[in-house]
Amino acid sequence: MTSGETDLDIAIVGAGAAGLMAAIWAGRTAATLGRPQRIAAFDGAKTLGAKILVAGGGRCNVTHHAVTEAEYAGSSRNAIRKVLLRFPVDDTVLFFKELGVELKREETGKLFPVTDRARTVLDALLAEVRRLNVELLNPCRVHSVERLADEFRLATANGDRFARTVILATGGKALPLTGSDGAGFEMAKSLGHTLTPHTFASLVPLLLPKDHWLLALSGVAAPVTLSVSDPSGKRHESFSNALLITHFGLSGPAVLDISRYWSARALQNDPVQLRINWLPGLGLPEADQLLLDIGSLSLARVLGGRLPERLARALCEAQGIDPSRAGHTLKRDERRALAAGLTDLSVPVIGDRGFTFAEATAGGVALSEVVLETMGSRRCPGLHLCGEVLDVDGRVGGFNFQWAWASGFVAGRATASLPE
Ligand SMILES: Cc1cc2nc3c(=O)[nH]c(=O)nc-3n(C[C@H](O)[C@H](O)[C@H](O)COP(=O)(O)OP(=O)(O)OC[C@H]3O[C@@H](n4cnc5c(N)ncnc54)[C@H](O)[C@@H]3O)c2cc1C
Repeated sequence: MTSGETDLDIAIVGAGAAGLMAAIWAGRTAATLGRPQRIAAFDGAKTLGAKILVAGGGRCNVTHHAVTEAEYAGSSRNAIRKVLLRFPVDDTVLFFKELGVELKREETGKLFPVTDRARTVLDALLAEVRRLNVELLNPCRVHSVERLADEFRLATANGDRFARTVILATGGKALPLTGSDGAGFEMAKSLGHTLTPHTFASLVPLLLPKDHWLLALSGVAAPVTLSVSDPSGKRHESFSNALLITHFGLSGPAVLDISRYWSARALQNDPVQLRINWLPGLGLPEADQLLLDIGSLSLARVLGGRLPERLARALCEAQGIDPSRAGHTLKRDERRALAAGLTDLSVPVIGDRGFTFAEATAGGVALSEVVLETMGSRRCPGLHLCGEVLDVDGRVGGFNFQWAWASGFVAGRATASLPE
C-alpha cells in the first residue's frame, strides 16, 4: 500500500560527499539498467558541499594512495574493509578522472586535485549529478523521515515528499555550520536504529590547562610520537607526525589522529594519559645516552639542534634544569628526568575543542546494523545509510572522504538496482 503520492524512487537526505556519490551512482546505475528512476537529493545547507570546499585547507585531500581498514576506527575493521574493497582508491582516481578531475599524489601519500582547488572537485560532482537529471534541492532541510507501509514520507522545508527508498547521508556532527548538525542521528533512531553509546569529536585539537607551561610555546611545531596510555604506562595507540602547540593546547596531524582515542577512553572514565616523545625513534635509554654524550657542550646547543630551540629550553626548564648547563654537569637523576621528559612526557589533557573544530565524528550507526553489500538497513526496509552517519572515522589523510566515496557508491548502486 502506498499513499498514491510516491513521487520519488530514491530520496537522498544530505548532499555532502557521500550523498553526492550515492546520487551519481544511483543515477548511473538506473541509466545502465535502462530503468529511469526519479531521484532527488535534499540538502539543508545554504552552501552545498561546504565541507568539500574547506577540506585539506581548501585543496581537498580527496583520498590516500594506500587505504586500508587499519586507518579507521569505529565499527569492526573487517566490516569497514568489506565496504572499502567495493570501491578502492584506483576506482576513486578513475572516477574523478572521468569527471575531468586529475588527482596528484603528494609525498605524504595524500591525493589532491592537480588544480589544488577543492572547488574543482565539488563542481565536477555537481555537474555529474545534474547530467544524470538528479533533482538537487538546496537549501531544503529534511525535518523527519517516516516509514509508511510501502514508502517513506519526508517532511521537508518545501513540504512533504514520498519516496520508495531513502538514503541517509546526513553526515555526523563535525563543523555543524556546514549543515551536519547530528539531525541524521535522530532520523536513524526514529527509523529503528541504535547509536553507539557516544558520538564524539574526532580529528580535533586537544586542550591543556590554562597555566600549562607548554602554552607559552604557542606556534612551535615539532615531529613527535604521541601515545595514549593508562597510568601504568601501558601504551595503547600511537601516532608519529607533526604536533603544533597552540594558545589553547595541542594541534597538528599527530594530535588530530590520536584525539579520538584519548576521548574514547576519557568518555568511559578510563584513566588515560597522553604522552609525547619529542625525539621520535629514541627511547629513554637512547635519550639518556644522548645526554651522556653531550660532554662539555650546553644542553640548549645540542638539544636545540634536534628540536626547536624554545622547546628544547622549555623541556629542560620543566625538569628544573638550566638549559645553558653543560651535559657533563648533570647528575644521574637529573639526566634520567630530562631523558624521560624528552621521550615520555605526560601531558594533562583536559578535553577537546569539540565539534566546531573537529574534522570528523566518532560513533554513529554501527555497521552491524546494515547489510554491507548494499548499505541497506537491517532495521528499516528500504532505508540505506552511507558516509559519516555510520560509526566509521578515519585518520587525517583523505581516509574520511574515501569512506564517503566507497559507502556512497555501494548505497547508490544498490538502491537503483532494487526490484520495483
Ligand atoms: C575542516 C574539515 C576538513 C576536512 N578535510 C578532509 C580532507 O581533506 N580529507 C578527508 O578525507 N576528509 C576531510 N574531512 C572530513 C570529511 O569532510 C567528511 O568525513 C566527509 O565530508 C563526510 O561526508 P558525508 O557526506 O558523510 O557528510 P557531510 O560532508 O557532513 O555531508 C552531510 C550533508 O548532509 C546535510 N544534512 C544534514 N542533515 C540534513 C537534513 N536534516 N536535511 C537535509 N540535509 C541535511 C548537510 O547539510 C551536509 O551537506 C574534513 C572535515 C572538516 C570539517
